[in-house]
Amino acid sequence: MGNIVAIVGRPNVGKSTFFNRLIQRREAIVDSTSGVTRDRNYGKTDWNGREFSVIDTGGYVVGSDDIFEAEIDKQVELAIEEADVIIFVVDVTSGITPDDQGVAKLLRKSNKPVVIAVNKVDSNKNILDATEFYSLGLGEYYTISAINGSGSGDLLDAVVEAL
Ligand code: GDP
Ligand code: MG
Repeated sequence: MGNIVAIVGRPNVGKSTFFNRLIQRREAIVDSTSGVTRDRNYGKTDWNGREFSVIDTGGYVVGSDDIFEAEIDKQVELAIEEADVIIFVVDVTSGITPDDQGVAKLLRKSNKPVVIAVNKVDSNKNILDATEFYSLGLGEYYTISAINGSGSGDLLDAVVEAL
């Protein structure tokens, strides 16, 4: 049984906000500027008595010729390789983007257990918008709000179960 969980997704979906909530420290850099978290960032947490390590990653973008973005993509791929379970964070307010499709492709290729976190569901108002994320072809999703913490319990139950 492994115990490494990687948080991946394109820039600005709320990965670092969720990571910070999980490790309850202000370790990762959270910024409204896309792609601020450049390096992988590790923390430890536990849920239902199960301890595990969490990796926050930078934002994945498809086919960039920017060398910094290309390096981030490489780090994301390494994090996926290293992880036992992956939390794939997407953003309900924007729907599926080409970068989300790129991440989904990587994850299907990895054959690792993936739990989709549809983030920014701050109220029930946009809960139905989340259904489109089924079409990523990665199964079940969980709606969360990394900002107010709602939904994270059910998500973490699924993560720990897949470890
Ligand atoms: P990252 O690039 O994926 O790490 O995203 P960040 O965690 O840096 O967040 C990007 C932006 O989205 C910031 O302005 C956050 O405050 C905002 N954000 C993150 N989670 C939520 C959420 O659950 N609801 C809303 N409304 N905004 C969020
Ligand atoms: Mg970040």
